Amino acid sequence: MLKDFFIGLSQNQFLNNAAKKYGLKMGAQNVVAGTNIAETIESIKELNKHGISCTVDNLGEFVYEKEEAIAAKEQILAVIEAIHENGVDAHISLKPSQLGLDIDYDFCKENIEEIVAAAHKYDLFVNFDMEDHARLQPSFNLLDELSTKYDNIGTVIQAYFFRAEEDLHKHKDYRLRIVKGAYKEPAEYAYQDKQEIDKNYIKLIEWHLLNGKFTSIATHDHNVINHVKQFVKDNHIPNDKFEFQMLYGFRKDMQLELAKEGYNFCTYVPFGQDWYGYFMRRLAERPQNMNLVVKQVFTK
Ligand code: FAD
Repeated sequence: MLKDFFIGLSQNQFLNNAAKKYGLKMGAQNVVAGTNIAETIESIKELNKHGISCTVDNLGEFVYEKEEAIAAKEQILAVIEAIHENGVDAHISLKPSQLGLDIDYDFCKENIEEIVAAAHKYDLFVNFDMEDHARLQPSFNLLDELSTKYDNIGTVIQAYFFRAEEDLHKHKDYRLRIVKGAYKEPAEYAYQDKQEIDKNYIKLIEWHLLNGKFTSIATHDHNVINHVKQFVKDNHIPNDKFEFQMLYGFRKDMQLELAKEGYNFCTYVPFGQDWYGYFMRRLAERPQNMNLVVKQVFTK
């Protein structure tokens, strides 16, 4: 119920637009690294000091105008330059819908290609984040088409989809981030039961660790993390074949601890004005995240 409520809020375009005007509010500053590139680079430097690498996401959704998609592309190109100039350990995560997927496929592909080519110049990896089921196949198509020219790209497999296993096998030669899945998907396409999602999640991670290229295990779930630690040990999978990922601001102690234990760790660092939808999805996933909001109200 609460999940549906927050997912509904995340999709409210009026509130999305209103939030852009008012800077980071409601506790969003705890989970969004900054509103601009300079602030974000400082947050990355801080994480790098602890041996944590970063994947940077220029926040943005509901892009239906070409000018907006182009502005997003320019911003991501500026992030790539900033990563290079500052010599920080970071790469890019992008959302195809922010770069025009809902406007025109070829237009989106051109925007993404420009980003991938710029990143390639500096040997930076670009992850294509995965969104809802309507954008799933077009996003795989973008990846597969661009992979004929570039090798610095990869994507995400969402374990709640029935088709996830098939997609994983098809894309095993990419660097893949494996997640449970963040959107509300109809029963026609996706498991609804948490236990079924968790079971599939473990199955996909194990398969990719044994058969695939580099695996990013992106979760805050300590049960999954502990399972993976044991699995890699039992199967002699070296540390350079995988990493753990978590979102900026979540389980900070565990992020530091995993890095300290010698595992590769990467923090997903979102930044920008367009924080509202991202923040609402985090509340949907875990209503306890409301404590980020409450804390903010009481510490003002
Ligand atoms: P959950 O199933 O939410 O939680 C399992 C258990 O872990 C909880 O019961 C609790 O005991 C513990 N736990 C979880 N969070 C906390 C916390 N904050 N503090 C304390 N305990 C906690 N989804 C997409 O659809 N597409 C993407 O491209 C995508 N990219 C992602 C990138 C990263 C780096 C991460 C971390 C997630 C990404 N997601 C993405 C979101 C993902 O799909 C899940 O929705 C999200 O991570 C919540 O699931 P979970 O695995 O963290 O654990």
